[in-house]
Amino acid sequence: MGLFSRSKPKIKIQTTKTDGFSGWLKCTHCNELIHTNELEQNSNCCPKCDYHYRLTATERIKSLSDEGSFVKMFEEVMPVDALRFVDTESYADRLKSAQEKSGSTDAVIVGKCTINSHPIALGVFDFNFMGGSMGSVVGERLTRLIEYALEENVPLIIVSTSGGARMQESILSLMQMAKTSAALARLHDAGIPYFSILTNPTTGGVTASFASLGDIMIAEPNALICFAGPRVIEQTIGHQLPPGAQKSEFLLEHGMIDCIVNRRNLKTKVSELLDFFTISHPSRSANKPVGAKKSS
Ligand SMILES: [Zn+2]
Repeated sequence: MGLFSRSKPKIKIQTTKTDGFSGWLKCTHCNELIHTNELEQNSNCCPKCDYHYRLTATERIKSLSDEGSFVKMFEEVMPVDALRFVDTESYADRLKSAQEKSGSTDAVIVGKCTINSHPIALGVFDFNFMGGSMGSVVGERLTRLIEYALEENVPLIIVSTSGGARMQESILSLMQMAKTSAALARLHDAGIPYFSILTNPTTGGVTASFASLGDIMIAEPNALICFAGPRVIEQTIGHQLPPGAQKSEFLLEHGMIDCIVNRRNLKTKVSELLDFFTISHPSRSANKPVGAKKSS
């Protein structure tokens, strides 16, 4: 699958016959040899070409939030197979195996944390859970998170990586687009900032709803950000897309996003933005009393 590139380079280099995998990998982007330790120390970016491999939701939360500050919320919202959907496998079985594989209960983890001491409502997608697809649980957890940000008057950050709608939930999945967008409209009316961070890949109904509604739109370098993927479009219109189409750099050039930030600078950049928004809204400084809503 070329569309959704991997969380780690796939080609493992075996150096000796006796001890098997030596820890050396071949970068799928630049073909250079890199060591897993180097990759880990470099926030899962290739040390040679800076290609950004995927982070798990847990790694992402760790890299963005202040140490030990993240508290999960709304974990009680759990997926159900309301339609009793069966394709090659039943949805119930897919859910079970996704939970075992990813260690997450659904494709988004939401909660509160601080980022350089700024209190934040944070949502992070887990691509390992059914391709980060948005079903009812993703929509409901994000909506509750947005409502929490509204009640507590804290900025909202959502880090997206998603294959789009969850097919197994049909219309119930599509309804999440409207629900999250409506909640964000209320956040917007209250003047509370929302940063949308787009990572590789962010596609489909996620791109077409809350992920594109950020007051500040941040993307990681070379991330695929689109509604329909390049192959689908090329098949539909019978034309090749221009080189780099639907990548972060292309979107920046065409005014769809505000900035591209290297993963290693992401926390600093987000902190600077939070400083800026806190200064322009003094009421939104740290440790402000709970529930002090803006009256507008
Ligand atoms: Zn590389």
